[in-house]
Amino acid sequence: MGKERSSGYSIDTKCQIVDKDLADRWGAVSFPIYQSATFAHHGLGGSTGYDYTRMQNPTRQQLESVVADLENGIDALAYSSGMAAVANVMELFKPGDHIIVDEDLYGGSIRLFEEINKKNGLEFTVANLSRENVLDYIRDNTKAVYLETPTNPMMNVTDIEKLSKQVHQKGLILIVDNTFLSPYFQNPLDLGADIVIHSGTKFLGGHHDTIGGFVVVKDEKIDERLRLIYKTVGAGLSPFDSWLILRGIRTLSVRLERAQENAIKLAEYLKNKEHVTRVIYPGLPDHPGYEIMKKQARGFGAMLTFEVDSAEFAKQILDNVELIYFAESLGGTETLITYPITQTHAEVPKSLLDKNGITDRVLRLSVGIEGIEDLKAEFDRVFEIAAR
Ligand SMILES: *Cc1c(COP(=O)(O)O)cnc(C)c1O
Repeated sequence: MGKERSSGYSIDTKCQIVDKDLADRWGAVSFPIYQSATFAHHGLGGSTGYDYTRMQNPTRQQLESVVADLENGIDALAYSSGMAAVANVMELFKPGDHIIVDEDLYGGSIRLFEEINKKNGLEFTVANLSRENVLDYIRDNTKAVYLETPTNPMMNVTDIEKLSKQVHQKGLILIVDNTFLSPYFQNPLDLGADIVIHSGTKFLGGHHDTIGGFVVVKDEKIDERLRLIYKTVGAGLSPFDSWLILRGIRTLSVRLERAQENAIKLAEYLKNKEHVTRVIYPGLPDHPGYEIMKKQARGFGAMLTFEVDSAEFAKQILDNVELIYFAESLGGTETLITYPITQTHAEVPKSLLDKNGITDRVLRLSVGIEGIEDLKAEFDRVFEIAAR
């Protein structure tokens, strides 16, 4: 399908490829939404390849083919949310299995591990994989290592290739949540990861209009097992949401290029701003992960975290933004500001927040594609109010 046809194309072009045979006989350029729960058979043994949408759907399959292609995997599975994707990956493990997870992760993933997976008998150890040696944490029952890079929200960067070598030496699998950079900037499977996860809600969808998630794999055995879990638990993405994300992906490259350009400019701008005590953006040469990013990614992304000098100042910023939305989530065309301590990380244990430096002075930006001068003017205005 999409796979053979797009081999050799650049990533920008891969975003445009739809399977013309699968699309329809009338030559639709926008892939149709096959809003059908079930599919008729041509006779006994005459399945069209589509039986029931929990298992397969042409629109979703088209999306899966594009995402597999973008991440250089053999298959991608599209889920009803990023969390459904993470939860389904966790179903690969058995009670008694041990997983090493990075200490700075999306809050919902931490909640899943703590509240659901532990109850089902999985064991977790939290480590700072950007700084610590993973080998120190491996036990007899360790099965996998799970991380994000750059992390959310503190932007710690881990060397995926180095980690994957250590992990594979011990027979474990490496799972990377690649939401923050998207396949446009980073391909963890190429760097040695075994499983890639995405919240499709973010950069892939790109417009804050739908929720979705992906798992991309390169091993047939893992794929087979995940497909069985997938059709059994029924966490697949709906045809309409599949179509929305398919459409979002068409502009992935231009959106990300522009958002990154804005992020770099905003990082520089905020660095020189009074009341800003720290700007954490992996595209700044003084970021500890800068060299690793240059080696393993094609860009630095559009996420940046900054710290101001008081909680009150942070509150004033949040209370007074107008152009920028004070909202959770990331990866859309409009700039969002998030307060991790009460939003994305509200349920993360206090000890972990302290350890990661996620204080009431930390703000996270998902930089959009607005005019940079308007974004700067917005901050000028808000900072002036906050400083009163
Ligand atoms: C948003 C997010 C998730 C969860 O995805 P949903 O689509 O909200 O379920 C997982 N990981 C990261 C890094 C995220 O940003």
